[in-house]
Amino acid sequence: MRLAETVTFGGSGLNRAAELRSDAAAQAGLLGRGQVLPVWRGKPLMQADALGWVGSDSVVLHHAGAPVFLGLDGDVPCFAADISDWMPEAGADAVQAGFIDTSEQHHPALPESFAFAELRAVMLRLTPRDAELATIAKAVLQWHRSHGFCAVCGAKSVSAMAGWQRSCQTCGAQHFPRTDPVVIMLVIHGNRALLGRSPGWPEGMYSCLAGFVEPGETVEAAVRREVWEEAGIRLGAVRYLASQPWPFPASLMLGCAGEALGDAITLDPNEIEHALWVSREDMVSVMAGTHPMIKPARKGAIAHFLIQNWLADRLD
Ligand SMILES: [Zn+2]
Repeated sequence: MRLAETVTFGGSGLNRAAELRSDAAAQAGLLGRGQVLPVWRGKPLMQADALGWVGSDSVVLHHAGAPVFLGLDGDVPCFAADISDWMPEAGADAVQAGFIDTSEQHHPALPESFAFAELRAVMLRLTPRDAELATIAKAVLQWHRSHGFCAVCGAKSVSAMAGWQRSCQTCGAQHFPRTDPVVIMLVIHGNRALLGRSPGWPEGMYSCLAGFVEPGETVEAAVRREVWEEAGIRLGAVRYLASQPWPFPASLMLGCAGEALGDAITLDPNEIEHALWVSREDMVSVMAGTHPMIKPARKGAIAHFLIQNWLADRLD
């Protein structure tokens, strides 16, 4: 797909400078002259519509974990650090439960224009470079939080390689950040595309079917299996279109298209609450937000991107 990399989080060609990760002396120098993105409980610091950076000596980083080297933005070394142990004055209870947390937290040491914000709530306002930096920061820091112990022997592990590895000093095992592949597919039958909704989604919201790739499975096989399991539909041709890093918490979305061999839907109620075929004409009003029943996939998500490009005949 020619437009593949224009998807939100589609990358900006950041120089990750991986060759500098193993050089502790170089890392100290880079950190000293670089900038650090504080991340609080998965929410990056924002300053208006851009990422909010602080110096490595900022009091905001007082309780921060080991910094992660994100790469070089031009000449500027960029790091991220987890400050989840910080307690905002408004209290963590300001964080909203639900599909997307739209609350923002302010740090007393920073001007009022700085705030911690949920990445999905601000993703459309970010430049591709900021989006890539925020994606790495959120994904890698979350991995450190959830992988503090060695998966081989159970001992506590430590951050290594500028945050791109965890090492177990008891058994010597090395662990690397996880990325979980998820297939998400635009299933097409003639003039119509298949949309479904999971239990618990906002009322009326529908999207493409999706599911995790299982061990021993190709991308195409995962697409066929998920569509069969969730909707009881067999697919003919399946093709890969575009991918999207989706750090909620660690997915890589693999956007595909599949040709349905029939249109009879048999739902798996454990996975899908409802599914239906939507014609091109109806999909135009869904995407415009004027359809009486169906609300579209969130703008910025790859499902929205695939559907929009299907409507515009730009899947090739
Ligand atoms: Zn171990």
